[in-house]
Amino acid sequence: MTQEEQIVELQKELYKEKDQIRFFMKQQQEWSQFIESLNPTIEVLHKKMKTLQNDLHLKNQELTNVLQSLSNGLIVTDLLGKVVTFNRAAVAITGIDIESAIGKPISELLKNPVLPEVLDEEAFEKINQDYHQQFVFSKADRSEIIIDSSTTLMKSDENEEQGIIINLIDITQLKRLEEEAERKNRLTAMGEISMQVAHEIRNPLGSIELFLSMMKMDTDEDSSEMDLIQHITSATRSMNHIISNLLEYTKPRPAVLEKLDPHSLLSEFADFARFSALQQNIDVTVELNAERSEIRGNKELLKQVLHNLFVNACQAMPEGGTLHLSTENRLEDDPMILERFNNNFILKDQPQELIEINIIDTGKGMTNEVKKRLFDPFFTTREQGTGLGLSIAHKTMASHGGTILIDSALNRGTKISLLFPLFIAE
Ligand code: ADP
Ligand code: MG
Repeated sequence: MTQEEQIVELQKELYKEKDQIRFFMKQQQEWSQFIESLNPTIEVLHKKMKTLQNDLHLKNQELTNVLQSLSNGLIVTDLLGKVVTFNRAAVAITGIDIESAIGKPISELLKNPVLPEVLDEEAFEKINQDYHQQFVFSKADRSEIIIDSSTTLMKSDENEEQGIIINLIDITQLKRLEEEAERKNRLTAMGEISMQVAHEIRNPLGSIELFLSMMKMDTDEDSSEMDLIQHITSATRSMNHIISNLLEYTKPRPAVLEKLDPHSLLSEFADFARFSALQQNIDVTVELNAERSEIRGNKELLKQVLHNLFVNACQAMPEGGTLHLSTENRLEDDPMILERFNNNFILKDQPQELIEINIIDTGKGMTNEVKKRLFDPFFTTREQGTGLGLSIAHKTMASHGGTILIDSALNRGTKISLLFPLFIAE
């Protein structure tokens, strides 16, 4: 091949390649056109995706809001019983913060078998049919509440178990009201019976007293018969006292209240207590700290309450000890008061100003069993007891718009607090 021929050949090839390049370029152009034509569709799809994403976010937010605003405590755990979600109400009820809750086994966290111990298929079956528990939970601040827990199994659309939902309700107040109502029922029934019995006994007792006084007139002052008559007289007197207590307890009429200063009542009472406690090796100390002390009260009823509490305190200190009387002003929303009411004090619009009268002994204290029942009429742990002292105190405090609180530690002593609303001039 000559050189010229070679050049011609090369040129031909060059043309071919140029053609090819042109062809490719055209194709590319077509592609870009095609892609460009797709762009609006992509944009539409993109927008749709954005809205879907937004919707999902909103739905999620809504779900979280619902979960958070529920007044019931809602806890979700995984299938091992470890906390995944812990809503605001659950925090409020248990006092446990979210950080310390997440990841913990729920039964450990609530110190109670809220879920079956072994989480197998059988357990899931139970959980699904509502695994119900009621238990006392001690919060970190040492206050105790009663929790009701129930469970549901969380399942996917494909019916696969995904987690466990635990519903918590604080039923402390409900239980308290239930107990109060039950107690009231018992009281009414007992009150009716005791009223009848008291009336039935009072008449023959009156006759006995009458006959005794007649016998006294006919009996020689120094005779042994007179000695016996005196014994019988003092026994009937004590029976009369019990009957009066009973009738006082069951009396349906409301107490008449007048403005009075419990400080003067207490001073008078302290004098009596000092004298009476002396023989029993009991010291009486007094600290009247309340600056405002006037209340609306019934002197006779309050004297009876103080006397009943005094007798109880002395009986709790057979070996002697100290009886401390004190007063202090408090506000109804005072944390100390709230704590002792287990945070269940029903507040009015404005916190009421109170006077707290404390009667504190260093006696043998009470067991929890006694604490639960001590306001029940006729409940007593003493052979000679009537079980009316504290019932009367409770009733009197209620008729004064106040409350009685008991704080007692076994073998250490008992603090009885009487809380009265202060007198407010109309
Ligand atoms: P009673 O004195 O007739 O037994 P109360 O209603 O006065 O009836 O008291 C009921 C029970 O409460 C007592 O039997 C006792 O067990 C307990 N109790 C009351 N006050 C005290 C106290 N200060 N210390 C210990 N226990 C007390
Ligand atoms: Mg008593």
